[in-house]
Amino acid sequence: MRPTIARVALPVPLDKQFDYLIPNGCFPVIGARVSVPFGRQTLVGIITALSAKSELQSHQLKPLKAVLDDSPLWPTPLYELLQWCARFYHYPLGETLHGALPSALRKGKPADFSTLREWQLTEAGRNQLMAGFDKRAVKQAKVMHLLANGALPHQMLLEHDISSSVLNALSDKGWIEAQDKKAAPCDWAATPEDLENGDDKLKINAEQAVAIATVNAKPEFGCYLLEGVTGSGKTEVYLNLLTPILAKGRQALILVPEIGLTPQTINRFTRRFNVPVTVIHSGLNDTERLNAWLSARDNAAGIVIGTRSALLTPFANLGIIIVDEEHDSSYKQQDSLRYHARDVAVMRANKENIPIVLGSATPALETLHNAQTGKYHHLHLTARAGNARPTTNRVLDIKGLYLEGGLSAPLIAEMRRHLTAGNQVMLFLNRRGFSPALMCHECGWIAECKRCDAYYTFHQHSSEMRCHHCGSQYPIIHQCQGCGSTQLVTVGVGTEQLELQLASLFPEYPSIRIDRDSTRRKGSLEQALGAIRQGQYKILIGTQMLAKGHHFPDVTLVALLDVDGSLYSSDFRAQERLAQLFIQVAGRAGRASKPGEVILQTHHPEHTLLQALLTKGYDDFARGALMERKIAQLPPFSFLTLIRAEANHSDSAEQFLRQVRATLEANPLFDNSCLVLGPTPAPLAKRAGKFRWQLLLQSQSRSTLQKLLASAKPAIELLPQANKVRWGLDIEPQDLS
Ligand code: ADP
Ligand code: ZN
Ligand code: ZN
Repeated sequence: MRPTIARVALPVPLDKQFDYLIPNGCFPVIGARVSVPFGRQTLVGIITALSAKSELQSHQLKPLKAVLDDSPLWPTPLYELLQWCARFYHYPLGETLHGALPSALRKGKPADFSTLREWQLTEAGRNQLMAGFDKRAVKQAKVMHLLANGALPHQMLLEHDISSSVLNALSDKGWIEAQDKKAAPCDWAATPEDLENGDDKLKINAEQAVAIATVNAKPEFGCYLLEGVTGSGKTEVYLNLLTPILAKGRQALILVPEIGLTPQTINRFTRRFNVPVTVIHSGLNDTERLNAWLSARDNAAGIVIGTRSALLTPFANLGIIIVDEEHDSSYKQQDSLRYHARDVAVMRANKENIPIVLGSATPALETLHNAQTGKYHHLHLTARAGNARPTTNRVLDIKGLYLEGGLSAPLIAEMRRHLTAGNQVMLFLNRRGFSPALMCHECGWIAECKRCDAYYTFHQHSSEMRCHHCGSQYPIIHQCQGCGSTQLVTVGVGTEQLELQLASLFPEYPSIRIDRDSTRRKGSLEQALGAIRQGQYKILIGTQMLAKGHHFPDVTLVALLDVDGSLYSSDFRAQERLAQLFIQVAGRAGRASKPGEVILQTHHPEHTLLQALLTKGYDDFARGALMERKIAQLPPFSFLTLIRAEANHSDSAEQFLRQVRATLEANPLFDNSCLVLGPTPAPLAKRAGKFRWQLLLQSQSRSTLQKLLASAKPAIELLPQANKVRWGLDIEPQDLS
C-alpha cells in the first residue's frame, strides 16, 4: 500500500517525531529533508519513517510543504550512527540530525554543488570600474568593487547583503558574468604515481613497520591505539596507512584537535599524496562547509582532515579513520549533543566495518584501559624518530621561596643559564590576564562578578575587569566598593603579569605571550609561531595553547609554573590532564644537539603520581592513576552521567534534581550497581545569573545506566519543576564543573 503519512524529525527540543500527510504526486524517501508547517513557522525536518497510518486522525494532520531531496542525505551506516548518537546521548533525534548538517542544508538549500555559482568582472566591467558609476547605483558599485580582486561565490555576495536582482542587472549590462561550478571535481582516482610522489617519504623503522603491518593486515573493523611520544613518527605511520586505502579508491578521515589543525599538518598530507584533500573546521563559512560536506559525500575528496564536527561528514567510500591526539579534550562537545568524537568515531568505524587508529603520546586512561583489557590493539612507538632526545625532568620545591611574578629564584637562575647559551625558554601558566583577582588592601573586599560565583580577572593590557565565565567586562575600578579605599592590590599571577615581570628581569631577551587574548585575531597565532621558530623571541609564555602541536627545536628549557592546583583538584581528571600537559610540553623541546630540560614548580615535590610521571614516564603514571581510579570506582571502572540543572532561583534547580533523584531511585531498573550523588551545587555554583546544581549518576554497568536513563527520562520530563529549569544530561562527562 502506498504510504500516506511521513514521520518527520524536527529541530525542536522534544523527544518525539511528527506525522504529516504526503500530498498526491509526492514520493518522499526516508532520510530526505522536507519542509513542513509547524505552528506558525515552516521548519526543515528529516523523514524517519513512512507509514499508511497515524495515531492521529487525518483531519488533524497537515500536509508536507515540500520534499527537498530525492534521495537520503546520509549513507545508511552514518544515518544509523546518528540514530545511535541520539539514543546513547539521550538527545532528541530531530536536533541530532539537524546538528549534523551544514547550516546551508539546515536552511533548506539544495544538497548539490549548484549553489557554487561564482561571479566575476567581464572585460567591459573592468573598464567600467575605471570609469566609475552612477551615484545612485550604490549596491551595483559595491558588487563591482568586491569583484575587483577576483571572482567571488554567489553565496558570499548574498552574505554581503547583495540581492540576486542586483547581480542580474549587472549581468544584463554585461559587466559581470556567472560561472557555475556545478561540475565539481567528482570521483577522484589516484594512480600509483599520485601515491608515490611524496618527496619527503622516509624509510620507516621497525616499530613503525609493525604498526603499519598490523593495521593493514585486516581491512575490516579493528581499533588500534598507537601510543608514541611526540616525534616518534605517528604521523608517518598514518601516511603509510593511507597509501593502500587510497590505492583502492577508498577515502580517509583524519580527526585532529582544534588547535592541531595547522597548515603544517595539512601540508604533510597534501605533499605526500596527489589526491584532493578537504579541510573541515569551525572557521568555514556556510558555502565552504556545504562544499566540504558534499566533496566527501560525492567522492570528490580522497582525504578529509578536520576537527570534531568533521566526524559526522558522510563519505562515499570511507576506508579508515584516524584520531590524532585522541586524549584531547576538544573532542568532547560541551553543549547541545554532548558527544565524544573519539568514542563515536570508534562506533562509526564499527558500523562502516573499517579500521580506526587512535594516536597519542598520552592516551586517555579510558583508552589505555580498553587497550589493556584487549578491546583495542595496543601498538607502540618507543623511540623518537628523527633526531630528538628525551628531556631531563625535575621538580623544584618552592615551599617558602619568594616568587617574583610566579618565578622562583632557582628557576630564574636556570632560565638565565639557558638564555645565555643562546637558547629559547618556554614558560607555562594556565591563567590568562594580569591577575585572577583584585582585592582591597584595607578591608579585603574582592571584585566579584555579580552574575557568577567567581572573581573578576584583572586585565591590565585592555584596562578591564573580565569574568572568564560569563564574558561580562567593565573598565578597571580604582576604588574599593566596600570601604572606598583606593588601596587595591592584585592577587595571584596571570600570563600578562608574568610577561611584564620577564621584561624587567630579562630586558635583553624579547618575550612573547601566547594565550587566547593575544591570539584573538585570525592568523595571529600562526604568525606568532612562525616568529618564534625564526628565533625572534627568546622567552615564550603561554597557556596550554602553546603546548599542542608545535615543535620548537631551539627551546631547551620548559617550566610549568604552577601545578599544585591540578594535584589537589576536586576534578578526578585533573592529574591525568596535568600528566598529559607535562608530556606534551616535554615533547616540544630539544633535539640531539640541544637536549631539553623540564622543570615543575610545586609545593608538593613528594607527590607520588608526580614522582612516577617524572622518573618513570606516562605509562607508569597511568598505571598508578588507573589503580586509584579502580579503588575509587571511577571511570573507566564505572560509568557516569551528570544531570545539570540551572534556574533563576537556586531552590528551583535543587528541588528539580531532588525529584529527578527520587524518580531514578523509584525506577525498577535502578539496582545496587547504581549510585546517585547529590544534588549538589555545581563547582561554579552561579553563572551568568543562573544558579547551577548537579546530580551525578554512577554505575558499573554501562548498559544498566543506559536502560535506566531511557526508561526514566519521560517521567523526568513530566516532573512539575521540569519547565522551570534548564536541564540536560551529559553522558560520560569530561568536565564536571
Ligand atoms: P609524531 O606524529 O609522532 O609527532 P612525526 O611522524 O611527525 O611524529 O615524526 C617526527 C619527525 O621524525 C618528523 O620530522 C618526521 O619526518 C621524522 N620521522 C618520522 N619517521 C621517521 C623515520 N622512519 N625515519 C626518519 N625520520 C622519521
Ligand atoms: Zn560572570
Ligand atoms: Zn575596602
